[in-house]
Amino acid sequence: MSTPLIFNIQKYSIHDGEGIRDTVFFKGCPIACQWCHNPESQSYHPDLMYYQDRCTGCGACIRACPNKAVSYREDHKVVTDRTLCNVCGTCTDYCVFNAREVAGKEYEIDELVRILDKDRMFYEQSGGGITLSGGEVLAQDIDYVEELTRRLYERGYSVDIDTCGEVPYEHIKRVLPYVDTFLYDIKLLDPELHKKYTGVDNRLILENLKKLSADGGKINIRLPLITGVNATDEYIQEVIDFLHDNQISVYRVNLLKYHDTGRGKYAKLEREYDNSEMAVPDQEWLDRAVAAFKQSGYQNIHIGG
Ligand code: SF4
Ligand code: SF4
Repeated sequence: MSTPLIFNIQKYSIHDGEGIRDTVFFKGCPIACQWCHNPESQSYHPDLMYYQDRCTGCGACIRACPNKAVSYREDHKVVTDRTLCNVCGTCTDYCVFNAREVAGKEYEIDELVRILDKDRMFYEQSGGGITLSGGEVLAQDIDYVEELTRRLYERGYSVDIDTCGEVPYEHIKRVLPYVDTFLYDIKLLDPELHKKYTGVDNRLILENLKKLSADGGKINIRLPLITGVNATDEYIQEVIDFLHDNQISVYRVNLLKYHDTGRGKYAKLEREYDNSEMAVPDQEWLDRAVAAFKQSGYQNIHIGG
């Protein structure tokens, strides 16, 4: 069994399922949404993050780097040549200003369960639990994910899985007995547009959703909505028709309005971020989308996570 990388354990989250939850973000995802606000979640390998606002230009990282990947630019700003950096992490030990860190750390299951156990009281008092997210948790070593999920379930925790659905159905099936709710994303229904904006078409994602529903999974549909991409009345009707025509058993729907808080993270990875086509849907349109769902018989509809 291989141990996946985790890039964040978010405590006391109220946006990733019901109640207060600890959310574990696994690193690595089979799709890459153009609006992704966690770009460090995409690669299955560790990433070096650089916080320019904390950097004093002291040069300790330049001297420490065994690969000579760090240097001063002409204007004395510190830059990292990512083609030379193998993310060894040495520079992070020398930067006393915490301007450099590595995203992605292995956690053995015992260690992770110990960390999550500490918040048992919050889960119990709020009707919350633990959400496994990412990246894509179901694209990790499924032996690890199944064992983790089973152990959390056996401790009496509500375990939710946040998934993009682009995974072998076998992986979903293996965790199904231990999962409370699947937070299941639908990004776009048109396969070509899905490919344009995420890198893959949606055939497997939609097939898996149908199978999960037929197998009795509790499904919370999550719709990222972006003006310029999919925040239209027509798209909302398309989703409603898809859910209805395929008799998807829907427990809840969340309308997730786009935000560009990921912009700063792209900068920390020294990657470009082009959101010129994307904008935040306005409240009036979101209210209309909620109304469309309700008129079609779906009552458990929420704006936000
Ligand atoms: S060690 Fe840290 S503060 Fe010093 S130059 Fe490098 S990144 Fe900046
Ligand atoms: S992570 Fe390692 S290789 Fe990359 S810049 Fe830091 S010291 Fe150099």
